[in-house]
Amino acid sequence: MSLPPDYHVHTKLCHHASGETSDYAASAVRRGMAELCFTDHAPAPCGYDAKYRMAVADFDRYLQIVDDARHDGRIPVCLGIEADYYEGCREFQDDWLSRGAFDMVLGSVHYIGDWGFDSPENSHIWEEVDVTAAWREYFSLVGCLADSGLYDVLGHLDLPKKFGYRPSDRDLDEMARPALDRIAAAGMGIEINTGGLRKPVAEIYPAPRLLSLARERAIPITFGSDAHNPEDVGYAFEEAVALAGEAGYSEYVVFRKRERTNVPLEG
Ligand code: ZN
Ligand code: FE
Ligand code: FE
Ligand code: ZN
Repeated sequence: MSLPPDYHVHTKLCHHASGETSDYAASAVRRGMAELCFTDHAPAPCGYDAKYRMAVADFDRYLQIVDDARHDGRIPVCLGIEADYYEGCREFQDDWLSRGAFDMVLGSVHYIGDWGFDSPENSHIWEEVDVTAAWREYFSLVGCLADSGLYDVLGHLDLPKKFGYRPSDRDLDEMARPALDRIAAAGMGIEINTGGLRKPVAEIYPAPRLLSLARERAIPITFGSDAHNPEDVGYAFEEAVALAGEAGYSEYVVFRKRERTNVPLEG
């Protein structure tokens, strides 16, 4: 079985990943992938979450190291970026995202207000908040992300489950449905992200029931490992492909210059 390409891969420029882009590419080749898409954490000039992303001044360097991996010639390499959605991001991203020659822009919500809810440093806050209300706020931000029209694919749809704090299935469905409606209306995709398997929750993002809701809306999918080191490229993709099949997916999508193409899923 040839694995779908990995469309969520970081680089050392974000200060919490390691390895050279050529090592990530080599790892994708070893796993028999047809291509690879780098999606490092986008810079944010306002100083937003500065510790965990490339500096604005590093962006040219990012273009260069992605290009280095491409010129390596072992595998086609796409230029992507993981750009956060947060209040006020528009000011910068509107202009900046349209200027970069991106193949795909992955949109993620990592913050509810100023709470970086998926950071281990802040995980104790989950003990203090109303978990269902926090999830509801998260999904409303996801809806705004979709409405913004800035992004091609939503990253890790149910990221708030990372440390195991969850609403009831009924509440989850009720809040996820309108968010998925807005993702579908925006013509966006979502990703099957295996990074969750390496976190306390030990589950792929999104959960099977959410993936089925996405499938009902014909929302296209990509696959991502969220690798922060070369060894994690394509992490547990066999499991991710099986999950997609169980939800009724028979295709995934790839991107060039933000135009997507369907590819049949090999089971
Ligand atoms: Zn990261
Ligand atoms: Fe992320
Ligand atoms: Fe990521
Ligand atoms: Zn991520």
